[in-house]
Amino acid sequence: MLTIFICPKCYNYRIVSRKPDATCFHCGAMLHRSDIDFIEFTDMSEQERSDYKQKFIQRMKIYKDNTENLLAEQEVK
Ligand SMILES: [Zn+2]
Repeated sequence: MLTIFICPKCYNYRIVSRKPDATCFHCGAMLHRSDIDFIEFTDMSEQERSDYKQKFIQRMKIYKDNTENLLAEQEVK
């Protein structure tokens, strides 16, 4: 079973087999498991991959903002 992972730092895709988690070849960050399966990924066009990447980048930014807000709130208390 091949899984598509994506890097939260440099946003490169990586196809991983077996390993439950993986790190990025480019920057060494822990990769995020995407919700795309391998068959879907091979069927995707360059444009679709790029669109998915953009959505992922947006999600990561929202996640990061939320985390920072959470930390800021904790510092106040
Ligand atoms: Zn990376």
